[in-house]
Amino acid sequence: MPQFTDEQLALRDAIRRMVEREIRPIAAEIDATDRIPERIFHLFGDMGLLQLWVPEAYGGPGGNLTTVCMAREEIARVSEACALIAGMNSIGLVLPLLHFGTEEQRRHWLPLAAKGRTWTGVAITEPEAGSDVAAMKTRARRDGSSWVLTGEKCYITWGSIAHWLLVFARTSGEKGFQGISAFLVDTASRGFRVGRNERKMGLNGVPNVQVFFDDVRVPAENMIGEEGQGFLACMRILDLNRPTVGAASVGVAQGALDAAIEYAKSRRQFGRPIGHFQGLQWMLADMAMQVEAARALVYECARQADAGDFSRLSEMASMAKCFASDVAMRVTTDAVQVFGGAGYMKDYPVERYMRDAKINQIFEGTNQIQRIVIARHLLGLR
Ligand SMILES: Cc1cc2nc3c(=O)[nH]c(=O)nc-3n(C[C@H](O)[C@H](O)[C@H](O)COP(=O)(O)OP(=O)(O)OC[C@H]3O[C@@H](n4cnc5c(N)ncnc54)[C@H](O)[C@@H]3O)c2cc1C
Repeated sequence: MPQFTDEQLALRDAIRRMVEREIRPIAAEIDATDRIPERIFHLFGDMGLLQLWVPEAYGGPGGNLTTVCMAREEIARVSEACALIAGMNSIGLVLPLLHFGTEEQRRHWLPLAAKGRTWTGVAITEPEAGSDVAAMKTRARRDGSSWVLTGEKCYITWGSIAHWLLVFARTSGEKGFQGISAFLVDTASRGFRVGRNERKMGLNGVPNVQVFFDDVRVPAENMIGEEGQGFLACMRILDLNRPTVGAASVGVAQGALDAAIEYAKSRRQFGRPIGHFQGLQWMLADMAMQVEAARALVYECARQADAGDFSRLSEMASMAKCFASDVAMRVTTDAVQVFGGAGYMKDYPVERYMRDAKINQIFEGTNQIQRIVIARHLLGLR
């Protein structure tokens, strides 16, 4: 078990109560209607879940990586889509400011984020630049005291509802890691446009949209980090967020395991509960072992980062994300199997868990890319 502080345990219990009361009753409806009610965002903001990372000095709850992992795991047990709301501002706003912003930028943005009413996202991926982030074409050219952004991004989570997007764009050069910079873009800016909302196999309720920048003017003070160093910033922020994808994977896997255990106790075949058959017992035991191993890896990564030890953050974050999401895919698939035909039906949550789990192997860098990161560390390659 992860070592939580008393404060974290109290927050976990409050989240658990909130999830049972507010989210479990509507989780299937969120999936079916592809819509999360707005009140859930406000509820999360009121509980501090949108702003967990904001330090107390700026009016926030002062959480750390362990806190964010704990919150995402807890919510994903019931709804992976809603778990994505917790920490929506981590990658798009708070982490970039904490690690790359100036004190002036922090003083401006963090108290706003602390109010829990600011929704943000991050825009990296483009139609021709997915795993190969450095191939991005969106450009920013300097014009007086502003930067002017032109280009297109795709699959952007929360892109249609975010107030602000952290947008990565090329400020010099044509290709490569150098010359990419990061900007906080007000989505109310002239020239910003949202395209189609993707229809997905899972994670329903979460909008994933194309966004277009037609000469969007961004004040120079909204550049986060140094000009041309955005790629490095992007990688560091992803390193700090990937363990939370691992945590959500642990949550969805635990949710599927819990459902499978209950079903194995109640469903009877051949005159006894199916949980009395050794074939299913071994499946459940394997599922439980995998979930515990994934949880241990995720929270060990978080523990190291929270202790200020970033020496292995990159490889540990990739391991946590990759291992836990592979576990989630296997465990949720096995949970459907434990349910038999009923598992394939929408009357039970396990088919939703299986569809939702898949995204964790794909976004924030596919698991192939995570394995490349890990192998490069092992081999001492750049
Ligand atoms: C639901 C969802 C939400 C998302 N949210 C966001 C968001 O908010 N912001 C954002 O910027 N992006 C977002 N993304 C984009 C996501 O990060 C990318 O889809 C992901 O990084 C993979 O890029 P790609 O889809 O272009 O796949 P590709 O890069 O085209 O990869 C296709 C396949 O090739 C493999 N591959 C590619 N290169 C290599 C290699 N060198 N070695 C081995 N295998 C390789 C990949 O692993 C994959 O299996 C989201 C995607 C989805 C589906």
